[in-house]
Amino acid sequence: MSSEHSTDLTVLLIEDRMPEVDYIREILSQVQSCHFSITHADRLDMGLEMLEQMHVDVLLLDLCLPDSTGYVTFQTAHNSFPAVPIILITNINDETLAARAVREGAQDYLIKRKMDSELLSRAIRYAIERQNAEEALRISEERYALAVRGANDGIWDWDLDKGDAYYSERWHSLLGFDEELPATINSWTDRIHEDDKADFNRALEAHLAGITSHFSHEYRILTKDYQYIWVLSRGIAVTDRDGHNMRMAGSITDISKRKQAESQLVHDALHDDLTGLPNRNLMTDRLDHAIQRIQGRGKHTIEFALLFLDLDRFKNINDSLGHSVGDELLVLIANKLREIIRPGDTVARLGGDEFAILLTEVNTLSMVTHVADRVLTECAMPVVINSHEICTTVSIGIALGTKRYTSSHEVLRDADLAMYWAKSEGKACYEIFDREMHSRVVKLQRLELELRQAVDKNEFVLHYQPIVSLTNVSMVGFEALVRWNHPERGLVGPVEFISTAEETGLIVPLGWWTLREACHQTKKWQLEFPSNPPLSISVNISGKLFNQPDMITSLRKVLKETGLPATSLRLEITESVLLDHADESLAKLDELRNLGVGLHVDDFGTGYSSLSYLQKFNYDTLKIDRSFVNQMNSDKGSGAIVQTIIALGKLLDMNIIAEGVENHSQLERLKELECPQVQGYLFSKPVDSKSATLILSAPAGSGNYLM
Ligand code: C2E
Ligand code: MG
Ligand code: MG
Repeated sequence: MSSEHSTDLTVLLIEDRMPEVDYIREILSQVQSCHFSITHADRLDMGLEMLEQMHVDVLLLDLCLPDSTGYVTFQTAHNSFPAVPIILITNINDETLAARAVREGAQDYLIKRKMDSELLSRAIRYAIERQNAEEALRISEERYALAVRGANDGIWDWDLDKGDAYYSERWHSLLGFDEELPATINSWTDRIHEDDKADFNRALEAHLAGITSHFSHEYRILTKDYQYIWVLSRGIAVTDRDGHNMRMAGSITDISKRKQAESQLVHDALHDDLTGLPNRNLMTDRLDHAIQRIQGRGKHTIEFALLFLDLDRFKNINDSLGHSVGDELLVLIANKLREIIRPGDTVARLGGDEFAILLTEVNTLSMVTHVADRVLTECAMPVVINSHEICTTVSIGIALGTKRYTSSHEVLRDADLAMYWAKSEGKACYEIFDREMHSRVVKLQRLELELRQAVDKNEFVLHYQPIVSLTNVSMVGFEALVRWNHPERGLVGPVEFISTAEETGLIVPLGWWTLREACHQTKKWQLEFPSNPPLSISVNISGKLFNQPDMITSLRKVLKETGLPATSLRLEITESVLLDHADESLAKLDELRNLGVGLHVDDFGTGYSSLSYLQKFNYDTLKIDRSFVNQMNSDKGSGAIVQTIIALGKLLDMNIIAEGVENHSQLERLKELECPQVQGYLFSKPVDSKSATLILSAPAGSGNYLM
């Protein structure tokens, strides 16, 4: 081995004929560029043993050996040591055999007699190089195969000319197949969701046309068990020198989880957490669609309707029973609404206690009012939450979708306005938006604002209406009735503002002012016009004021400050005020009675009078509503009611006042029925304190109010 040789190669020569061996040794020793160390074996088995023990760069193999002859010699050597390059050394008559061996993996063959130093050394070097290249390729292929097998993505490879396609095992398992699908492109494309096919093809064509550098597309694909899953396919096309697309290969990834998360996000953004209903955003979107659909259609037809719902007195429930009960109630209401609507309609929670229903494909008004009626009835059914029986009602505003609407915002605004109107009309009802409603609501809102200022500026006055006893023909007291001294409109009656004052809570400060003023004025009269019993005053009390927790304490304070004896004060309450909070009311009524304050049931006969409550609450006086007194002589029913109430009063030992007595025939009839007390225009309209003082100063029996 000399150092000037650039390479050192180990050659194993398996050859049984010594002259040949010598010849080969000879010619290889002549090679300058390389040094060959030659090991020799004269039998195949011996050669294989050597291969086992030593490193060999190349094997020179004679096919005709004592222990093996012909093709099988090559086969045995190659199969045992596939990584060793083999050059066959043959006789001229073995040439066909040798050519076959080359096809099967031998690197080359040389004919013994034609061999020279140059030829053999070149053959050896090439054989080694080729073997190395093949080995490298084999390793690379093996690595690729391993990668394909181990990848989480499926791999595909599509021969564009032939239409054949290869799909990896993972590609199959992704779609739920453990068996192989036909190796055609249709095995893939036929499974793409119908709705996604066009987009898929567009993306593919864009890449094949060179518009996009990569093919990348998300779509749904059918699995073996007929489910669609979301996948992402990526790929790249390979072109030949002429730019012709030959093949395309790439991957497929299961992206169902990501898609699910995405759609969950979208769902959350458009739905209400508590009830799971669509939220305001989604409702707005659907409304906008509904509006777009009707543009271009008939002029006056109704195409959709929006019902705007607001729970009545929801705040009370939340405040008194807690937020968790309030939440539960909202969920129950949401469920009721879901059941009422048809598929295609939308029910949404807009926020707080506001819901909306969008009805589509509507062509008659009665279809809309039918739904509104059902909503009113269903929502009014009591529900039980945490063993509380809760009765609630809803107020509904309706906007009918016609062509004049251009945005969801306008529809919602009008339906909201109609809902506001429904509330002001006494709640638990629906109102359909019309143009006049707008001005009415604007007026109402202005009233609210003005009323607030009026309370601050104290623009109220009290009028007084005498209450007359028929038993001893004398005036026993007054009812104080509030009026608003409006700076522009003059005196405004309570019918116009009391309900708004109730709704806004302004009734509380206004009520206390009324009480104090009435007590103060009466005390003054008592001092000026002493009588026995002293003059009494009836004051109307709103439920809001009556139910104030410190109501009794404040009342004591008013009595103390004005000096009016408690026994001269009567509070007029309507029955519904007491029924709303029956238990607390009972305790309060007891305290009032202990104080000596009188209790009158106002407008008796118009509310939910319950005879058992009459006894339970133990009132002093029933005031027969003027609607009955008014018609007692013309309408049989009203006459009977008046008669019954008077009889009831006698039986239960209660005083009775008939309100709204306007003429003599009514008075005569009431006298006949032995009604103890009356009040009405026949005696006097409510008058200001000055006129009331005049009435008081008139000598007994001379006033026009006494008959
Ligand atoms: P109410 O308590 O039933 O008062 C009687 C109403 O009947 C008064 O109307 C009175 O003017 C009217 N009236 C009396 N006699 C006759 C008659 O012969 N014919 C007719 N047509 N009407 C008669 P007003 O003053 O307009 O009060 C209406 C309602 O407003 C009252 O009904 C009461 O519910 C409420 N209200 C009045 N003042 C107050 C107040 O200070 N506080 C509260 N909470 N409510 C009040
Ligand atoms: Mg009254
Ligand atoms: Mg009344």
